[in-house]
Amino acid sequence: MPCPDCSSPNTQRLAHYWESLPAESPLKDRYAPPPIARARTLAILGIIGAGIWVLTTGAVLWGLAIAIGGLLWGALTMASVTASQAAYGQWETQQLCLSCTHRFQP
Ligand SMILES: [Zn+2]
Repeated sequence: MPCPDCSSPNTQRLAHYWESLPAESPLKDRYAPPPIARARTLAILGIIGAGIWVLTTGAVLWGLAIAIGGLLWGALTMASVTASQAAYGQWETQQLCLSCTHRFQP
């Protein structure tokens, strides 16, 4: 697959190129994959559970506030996990031009 920028045929899968770089290479950071966010499901469920428990003790507003906070945090976490997985998928399929360092999707 030739580079769309300089039409050089000297291109490589970015993921393969990055894996083949020695650890001390300064390019190792530059071409590193985007980090994948992890869902802290247990912590989120714990907060929601704590909110429900507070609810049952009679502090209804506090319980609701804590449970809703847990739900919101869960929704935000899921959104960032999905976004980071999409970014990682894109990195994985990218091609790197070894002549002009242009990155592109094949
Ligand atoms: Zn190029």
